[in-house]
Formats: sequence, C-alpha cells, structure tokens
Amino acid sequence: MTYKKIERTESAHDYQLLIKQILKTPLVHAPEQEIVYRGKQRFTYRELGERINRLANALTALGVTPGDTVAVMDYDSHRYLECFFAVPMLGAVLHTINVRFSPEQILYTIDHAEDDVLLINADFLPILDHVKGRIDTVKKFVLLQDEDAHLPRTHIEFAGEYEALLAAAEDRFDFPDFDENTRATTFYTTGTTGLPKGVAFSHRQLVLHTFGVLASLATPAVQGRFHREDVYMPITPMFHVHAWGMPYIATMMGVKQVYPGRYVPEHLLELIGSEKVTFSHCVPTILHMLLKSPKVDEIDLSNWKVMIGGSAMPKSLCLSAMKRGVDVFSAYGMSETCPILTLAHLQPGQLALSAGEQAEIRCKTGIPIPLVELRTVNDGMTDVARDGNAVGEVVVRTPWLTQGYLKDTKTSEKLWAGGYLHTSDVAWIDEQGYVKITDRTKDVIKIGGEWISSLELEDVISAHPAVGEVAVIGMPDDKWGERPLALVVPKPSPHGNVTAKEIVHHIVDYSDRGMIGKQVVLVKVRFVDAIDKTSVGKVNKVGLREKYL
Ligand code: AMP
Repeated sequence: MTYKKIERTESAHDYQLLIKQILKTPLVHAPEQEIVYRGKQRFTYRELGERINRLANALTALGVTPGDTVAVMDYDSHRYLECFFAVPMLGAVLHTINVRFSPEQILYTIDHAEDDVLLINADFLPILDHVKGRIDTVKKFVLLQDEDAHLPRTHIEFAGEYEALLAAAEDRFDFPDFDENTRATTFYTTGTTGLPKGVAFSHRQLVLHTFGVLASLATPAVQGRFHREDVYMPITPMFHVHAWGMPYIATMMGVKQVYPGRYVPEHLLELIGSEKVTFSHCVPTILHMLLKSPKVDEIDLSNWKVMIGGSAMPKSLCLSAMKRGVDVFSAYGMSETCPILTLAHLQPGQLALSAGEQAEIRCKTGIPIPLVELRTVNDGMTDVARDGNAVGEVVVRTPWLTQGYLKDTKTSEKLWAGGYLHTSDVAWIDEQGYVKITDRTKDVIKIGGEWISSLELEDVISAHPAVGEVAVIGMPDDKWGERPLALVVPKPSPHGNVTAKEIVHHIVDYSDRGMIGKQVVLVKVRFVDAIDKTSVGKVNKVGLREKYL
C-alpha cells in the first residue's frame, strides 16, 4: 500500500524532542518556585536555569564537546538535577554512575562508557583510591563538595570545584539544536552476576517518557495524582534510571523539589515534615525502613503519596503505610525501559473499598501507561489468556526502550527477540487490565512441574506478625524437582519468638482457605539474621541461592 506523505512548506520548522524543551515551561510559569537541597540550600527555578547555563559554559571550558561523556558520582542533589539538563543539552552524554557498585565495577563502567569528565562528590573519593592509576579515559575531574563536608586525602587532581567553576562561568549559553535521537544518558544495570550491562536513552525517548508518565500520573482525580501543587522528593537514587524519570517530570511541572542528599531515614522523615513533601518514590525496602524509624511517629504522613517500584510491594507493607494515611501504589519498570511501564492506580469508586481490598489493587503491578504495549506471552510469543490466572513472560514495546546493550550485540538480540523487549518477568493480566508480576523467569519455582510464585509466598509469610523480612528461593529436591525455601528474619522479641512450624501452619492456613496453591505446603523455613540485597536495595536472589543452596 502507498500512503500519501504530508507536504511540508520549505520554511517549516522540524521540531525535535530535546531535553531543553522540558525546561522552558517552568522558567516561564514558575520562575520563583523552590528547589531545596537537604533543607540547607534553596534555589529558585530562575537560578536553576542560570546554573544550568553556567554549568554548560564550565563544561565547555573543560573541553566537553557534543558526543563526549560526562559522568557523575553524587547523592540526590540539585547539582545532579543541573547535570540531568546541562550535559545532554550540550549534546554530550550523561553517565550516571552507580556509586553502590564495587570499585572494580565502577572502573569497568567508566572505561566501558568512555567517560571524558567525571564529577565526583568528596564522599566517594576513597572509591577511586582503590582503582588508582587505572582510570584511562577520564581527562578532567570536578569536585562536588557540600559546605559542611570533609575532603578526604586523595591522589586525584581536580580541574576545579563545582561551585567555583559555576561562579566563574557566564550565565548564558546558546544550547544547540540537534537530532532528537541523539544519545542523552547512559548507565549500567545492576546485574548480580557477570559484568554490568550498559543501557542508553535518547532525548526523544526521555521527552516521550516524561509525557507518558505524566499523562498517567495526572489522570486520577485524587489518588496517586501528581499535580502542580505537589512537593516532590525522590528517594530512589538519581543514578538509577534517572530516578525513574521523575526529576524531568517534576521540573516540567514547575513543582517545588526537595533533594535529600545521602539517604538517612530520620533525615528523610524530617524533610517530609519540614518541607511538606507530598510525592515520592522508592523501593519497598526504603519505605519499610522509614516506617520502622522511631522518628515516624513525629511526622504526619497523611499527605504523602508514594510510588513503590523496583520490586513487588508486600501487602503488609502497603497496609502499614495506609494506616498512617500514606497513599501508596505500585509502579513497574526496569533499567532497560527508561523505566516506567505500568502504574497501579485505583479505578473511580475504588477509594470506597476496605483497606484490605484497596491494598490488593495498590500492590498489583499496574496498568500500562499511555504508549506502552504490554503482552504476556508463552515461549512461542503467543499471548496467554488475560484472565488473572494464566502467566507468561512480559514483553513490551514503547517509544522509550533501550535499543540494546552498549557494545553487546549478542545480548541485545536476545533482549529484543521477536521485535519486543523481553523483561524476563513472569506475570498475569486480569480482566481489568492490571498486570501482576509473579516472578522473574530465573526465580520461578517449579514444584512437580507446576510453577509457584515466590512473590506470592513471600507476601503470605510476611503477613505473619513475627516475620520481619522474608525471601523465598527454590531449592533442588529429589522428589519434587524443586521446593520453596523461605529465608526468614524474625522481628525482635517479644514478637520474634516464632518457630518454623508456626510459620508453616500460617502458610497451610492460607492454602486451606484457597488463597494460595496447595504445593506451597512443601516449604522449608530457615531463620537467618539478614537478607542480602543488591546495590539498589532489592533482594539478591542469585546471591541467596549461592549462599544457602
Ligand atoms: P532494575 O533494572 O534494577 O530496575 O530491575 C527491574 C526489575 O525489577 C524488573 O524486571 C522486575 O523484575 C522488578 N520490578 C520492578 N518493579 C516491580 C514491581 N512493581 N513489582 C515487581 N517487580 C518489580
């Protein structure tokens, strides 16, 4: 079939979706709005705009040109936000380094991404001492230092200190126009085995992700809604998938933003109270830490909305947050997907449901946001039934997926087999369109040939009042092929005086009531002191299997 092309006038402007466009609106309608760092420093959006221009001039003076890579090692800060804009707006690539990687992994990512300039917080300098003399690509280092921070001894020679460089630079920069498909960001996934894998996103992808996520977040009348009167504070690191893209969204909206620096639960709670934070996002572990902090009783959390992602939110955690008035709901995505794919908002009328019924929905993985095509498929790429029961692998298409892993054709082909990005997540979709992840393909437990969901079993076990934390892995079994092994961290006494038998009884009770499959009664319970986590706070199942099996 031939299609008619739209005719273009000779002088028509071909508008490219560039990150610099996101910054224009707030500078017009919210120039005096605040951006706060650790409750200690305050900037207006007008100043943010000026500082982004100054940073672009400073980086240019250091020799950065389009196509170069500028890496950052910092906590969540106003500086990081400035880099989110200035670096890609120059036509350079922003490499957000995972500061929780080991020094060797960090060295690997710096080399692999071919970083030209590295901006580093004084606190992370000791990491570079471990790899002294082995960083080949970086030509210039810039020091990021808080006023009250101590500068450790270091072998690094700095081209300058961030604030001094900004102060000396002009506050106007003429940001160029270029192709919207230009690479804007890159970072490395937090695989627990093997080398980290690099993903990359273009200007077009980040702009479309900003609009897609915002369209979904702004749709509900009240619940989980992000709007211009919100006060935003990230509690997922900015190095991890652009803090889920939310700093771009918050900036475009011109809302008050609070960047907390290093994550200390008491300090985060203090900021939520003093800065009147209303919208955040974090992994379940962080929410758990905040709710367990002795400080939590002093802070009113009833105006706080929190998007929970990175791993499944246990229902018990959701209920304890809801008890404090927190509007919690799930979000789902991965490093490879920019990241957001689904959000678990309630539907109209569902706020009238009981807390338990609401938690059921809030803990689902969510409904695909605009422009996301999400399928659950079997090995032959055929869709499985959308009946809330049949499970398949989640495969997706959206305009904001990484096009492959950097310099790794083989794994990239596998990621994109059949023209869809393979998430390696196993899920069902129900009649209302909600997706629910039941496992990672690698974490699935097969008992006598039947799949059981380790996440579902973890949810049931964590509902026991004496259980602090739990992770379920599959252990080899002669008769059944595999059996679930539940690693349980008990709560401190008096709640913690629990036996393995009592936990198994608790599971059997759920199974007898038809709430979980019969095979789970084969579970073996083992008490442990702690559950190992990955660098972004997720349960490290690969590590747990190595340790306990
Ligand atoms: P990462 O690339 O480190 O962000 O990890 C992405 C993976 O985290 C996904 O493929 C899922 O396995 C898991 N994940 C993220 N969000 C959720 C969620 N809401 N529920 C369950 N698993 C999730």
